[in-house]
Amino acid sequence: MKIGRSLAFTALTFMALPAMLAGCSANADPDGPKADIVTPASADAAAAGPQETAPAQPPADGLAVEPPAPPASAEEPAQPATSHVALKYLIGDIDPASDPMFTRIPDKYLGGSRVWGHKDAVEAFVRMAEDAASNGYKLKIVSAFRSFNDQKKIWEDKWTGRTLVGGKKLNASVPDPKARALKILEFSSMPGTSRHHWGTDFDINALDNNYFNNTREGKRIYDWLVQHASTYGFCQTYTKKGDETGRTTGYEEEKWHWSYRPVADWYLKQYPIDVGYERLTGFEGATTAKDIDVIANYVQGIDPECKQ
Ligand SMILES: [Zn+2]
Repeated sequence: MKIGRSLAFTALTFMALPAMLAGCSANADPDGPKADIVTPASADAAAAGPQETAPAQPPADGLAVEPPAPPASAEEPAQPATSHVALKYLIGDIDPASDPMFTRIPDKYLGGSRVWGHKDAVEAFVRMAEDAASNGYKLKIVSAFRSFNDQKKIWEDKWTGRTLVGGKKLNASVPDPKARALKILEFSSMPGTSRHHWGTDFDINALDNNYFNNTREGKRIYDWLVQHASTYGFCQTYTKKGDETGRTTGYEEEKWHWSYRPVADWYLKQYPIDVGYERLTGFEGATTAKDIDVIANYVQGIDPECKQ
């Protein structure tokens, strides 16, 4: 009897182990990593494997139709800084409303319709916004988490001319696909490459450098952020390009975009290991991604100080 029970216990423990190890990937995701420690070999396997067993890109309606199953470790998701990040978190293929890694931004700090963020980033932002408020500075998040499909809509609206870029319909004014992609990439990411997929990055107060350069309130807010945001873990990833910052590639300056480094740094390290150009498909103009090398030039084209 005793041996029987012990064997049964061992068998149960053995069966439960993979679920426990898969803590950070939150549920049994076929795109998830196969090991906690990434070696080049396991990274290749992780990148190549799901192509045979799962769709290479998020299904167009996947987020709405298939909310992730409740994870085994919902109460205590592993800290991303010590575990492998599942691919779905890197490319925004998740539903934040049912994912334990995400939380809703409190209404008092919302200034837009994107209401979700990585729970650690939201917590840090709230601390920062409370301290800012007590010193007379109002911080509001005007954009936060965006899914692959959210970004696809933004990108394709610009690609097809539904959204004007610089007052123009790009489908007519820039017929060359690479040139058109580069024009959109001045301020918008390709689906699958945005830091907004991670929930770690927030656009604060206004999506407009003019507000920060030319209004009294905007200038005060920006100066406060430059002085204090790093205390809370935040960094301006898209600073002015040039000798002053040492940033040579990527999006144009965005004084509104701030990133929570304790999580985002780890995601950025994981990104080029797990996301290859075969993942960046399923949207208009996707074939230009490799040619432009958006992973090297845009995903990694952030302010050098945000990498130190
Ligand atoms: Zn942004």
